[in-house]
Amino acid sequence: MSRRAAQTGALNIGQGFPDYPIDPDLAACATRAMQEGRNQYAPMEGVMELREAIAAKLRDTQGVGVDPVNEITLTCGGTEALFSAIQAFVSSGENVVVFDPAYDAYEPAVRLAGGQCRRIPLAPPDFRIDWRRVAGTIDDRTRLVILNNPHNPACTIATREDLEQLAQLLRPRDCRVLADEVYEHVVFDGRQHVSVLAHPELRERSLAVFSFGKTLHVTGWRVGYCVASAALTHEFRKVHQFNTFSIVAPLQHGIAAYLQHRPSSWQDLSGFFQRKRDLLRNALQGTGFVLPAAQGTYFQLLDYSALSREADVDFADRLIRAAGLATIPLSPFYRDRPQLMLLRLCIAKQDATLLDAAERLQTFAVAA
Ligand code: PMP
Repeated sequence: MSRRAAQTGALNIGQGFPDYPIDPDLAACATRAMQEGRNQYAPMEGVMELREAIAAKLRDTQGVGVDPVNEITLTCGGTEALFSAIQAFVSSGENVVVFDPAYDAYEPAVRLAGGQCRRIPLAPPDFRIDWRRVAGTIDDRTRLVILNNPHNPACTIATREDLEQLAQLLRPRDCRVLADEVYEHVVFDGRQHVSVLAHPELRERSLAVFSFGKTLHVTGWRVGYCVASAALTHEFRKVHQFNTFSIVAPLQHGIAAYLQHRPSSWQDLSGFFQRKRDLLRNALQGTGFVLPAAQGTYFQLLDYSALSREADVDFADRLIRAAGLATIPLSPFYRDRPQLMLLRLCIAKQDATLLDAAERLQTFAVAA
């Protein structure tokens, strides 16, 4: 969709990336790191000052102690952390539980490791996990359960009860949790993100994945990290070392310096995105489009079923051609594509972009 948006000049509100400038102070920190000569290989595990800043952030947000030496590894975006974790813990003939709709990086990494995904569909509108079904899916060859929380593209967040259910299910098993928590700081309406790291039992069997791309609005910097117990990190690093070895040094130094100036820079993220979510929701009121509740992430689903019964892929195609608006249909996030009338919109956009998108949708709805 992004390629088509670029080719046709359509407004792109589909793919998840901000279209507004970053904090000039962050840019200055990164530039300074380059000017100061921080341009050679970083340590394989990541720059120590940044690992210390991450440990401090986890202490503040989740109340958990993490050892920056043995439990934190900087990666090339959250994507590399997911990939390296899957290669480290999944072997040929083993399987991984994935909840659909699922972020598209999971399945190829599992297949490359020789494994198979067991995909459990979650149904709109609330996309809740049926834990009995999960219990019936996990077997002796299940090595990972991938839990994306807050969830892209469902825009839901897992409850403490969900984490409890997961912990109970895994108690007798040799199975780990790969927790994709890249949207940790984007939770709405006073909700709290509860990390697997804050659950004492899950802490021991989980690898949690985060991304500065989301937290600092810099998706192109490709700086993410994986947090796990020393034993799991030891295995994780065996892959990371020969996958990317180490990641972009000046940006790690730049982020570390920035977090020192602004240790609470991430604190207003929920408010920032909640205002954008509400701007879009208000602008689309009365248009015939329905916006299901969004609990977190920087996405918002759009239900067009009152306007058309077309499949979502076809509707998105018509929208880009007729309204010049690129969105993402939801059904391709499932292995067995259900009949859905839902599109995903990204709210990490300037207010003017969101209002322009709303206007295009409204004009389209009137013509429909
Ligand atoms: N997980 C999810 C659910 C995501 O939405 C994304 C980014 N779109 C990632 C992981 C990857 O993050 P990064 O850009 O840091 O690789």
